[in-house]
Amino acid sequence: MRREAKANAAAWLEKTRWCTNGCGKEAARYDDSPGHALRYSGACSPECEEAVEQRKTQNAKSEPTAPLLAQVGSTDGLGAAVSPAPTFEKTKC
Ligand SMILES: [Zn+2]
Repeated sequence: MRREAKANAAAWLEKTRWCTNGCGKEAARYDDSPGHALRYSGACSPECEEAVEQRKTQNAKSEPTAPLLAQVGSTDGLGAAVSPAPTFEKTKC
């Protein structure tokens, strides 16, 4: 159990080793904290943390907001809604 926790911590340290902004630097940590907590949410500096946050919000905005399912469901009634073609045969003189 204890060994497993240590392995998990090592895996986490390896996973979070590099700046999440992809700048190539190692992520900043609180050296005095026992868990080596990430200082800037996994980034190396406040600048990189901000860049990552901005990218996150941009991604959230670019996602499609209106689901297409509503349009698909409404096509079922279209056939019945079409009125029959008008006939002009009887109005001929
Ligand atoms: Zn960085």
